[in-house]
Amino acid sequence: MSKIFLNILLLVFLLPGMTPAQVRVRVFADRKPSSASLSVIHGKFELDTYDGSPVPIGSGDPVILALYEGRVAVKLRNSVSFTVDSLTVRGLTGNDHFSLRINGSPGERRYYSGSLKCIADLRVMVFTNICDVEEYIAGVVRTEGGPGRRIEYLKSQALLVRTYLYRHSDRHMIDGYNLCDNTHCQAFNGVTSDSLILRAASETSDQVILSSDSTLIISAFHSNCGGETSTSDFVWLAGHSYLKKVIDPYCIKSPNAHWKKTIPLAEWESYLKRSGYAPSGVTARSYNFVQNTRHNEYRIGTFSIPFNTIRNDLNLKSSFFSVSHEGSSIVLRGRGYGHGVGLCQEGAMVMAARGFKSDEIIKFYYSDVIITDVKYAKPLKQETY
Ligand SMILES: [Zn+2]
Ligand SMILES: [Zn+2]
Repeated sequence: MSKIFLNILLLVFLLPGMTPAQVRVRVFADRKPSSASLSVIHGKFELDTYDGSPVPIGSGDPVILALYEGRVAVKLRNSVSFTVDSLTVRGLTGNDHFSLRINGSPGERRYYSGSLKCIADLRVMVFTNICDVEEYIAGVVRTEGGPGRRIEYLKSQALLVRTYLYRHSDRHMIDGYNLCDNTHCQAFNGVTSDSLILRAASETSDQVILSSDSTLIISAFHSNCGGETSTSDFVWLAGHSYLKKVIDPYCIKSPNAHWKKTIPLAEWESYLKRSGYAPSGVTARSYNFVQNTRHNEYRIGTFSIPFNTIRNDLNLKSSFFSVSHEGSSIVLRGRGYGHGVGLCQEGAMVMAARGFKSDEIIKFYYSDVIITDVKYAKPLKQETY
């Protein structure tokens, strides 16, 4: 049995009797928290320091936590402070919400549900939120889903987020949690009370996207494909049968369909030289390159460089651009925003507005896939992404 399948079991059966499935997410993962204030919003909580009986936490009693000499100092209202190596603020009813503010900054307050574990790890505090899977999914859709408000669009996003969660649930297992809350995994800024997003998560509950061999797909998505999605091997080394090029007529009038960037000619030449190009008797017109359809590589004579490399090096919106020499400048005229692989969010928003269902949207962008209950997912043979 593979490691990922074991972890799916772990997720589903974690804390049996509380909720059907929970996920462990490291929160404020990239913020280096050194102090925090936790306040109960509703529900019932207790503080467990694994040393004696847990202490009940009242709704008006913030829990103040701070790093102190490599341990966690805890201060509850009307109590002396004490230090521990780790603690858990545990939600007891199954519908428990709290806010968490770090480093004394009001802007860093976020809202979570479930329980929170805190450990001191060298010079930072590691906070792990143990959260209901569907509440987590709704939270990620709010953060990553963009401005789309149609229910079928939001359901398509929930399917992507849930598929990612189960495919990558072992990503941080060595650290003691499933996923982190920044874009290394999926951006999760806490739970949402947005009823439409919550409905999208619940209406797709347990549903994931499987490839024709019943494994969880790489649920890649991007903002706008520019009218044509990219095959995965243009962007990553591995090609996947369900990540084929799709001609997308839906996104071409959307906000991120086009972009333009002007670069001084000397700067462009300097960049190409740094990339290994050795000019020999070429004119600036030789730099011209038209991408009406996606190409993998930009070519000048025998020199070539992947468009994706240029995109990353120059921080461009997409790798789908044409190059033209105009006077003393090079003008890049681009299409789309993002890597172009998988679902195009702005296209999916237009599809939903035109009456397509979430499964039709998914099957438009991913070839030969099945949308079904996660229990039918087969373990991955090996991680390929
Ligand atoms: Zn991560
Ligand atoms: Zn598109």
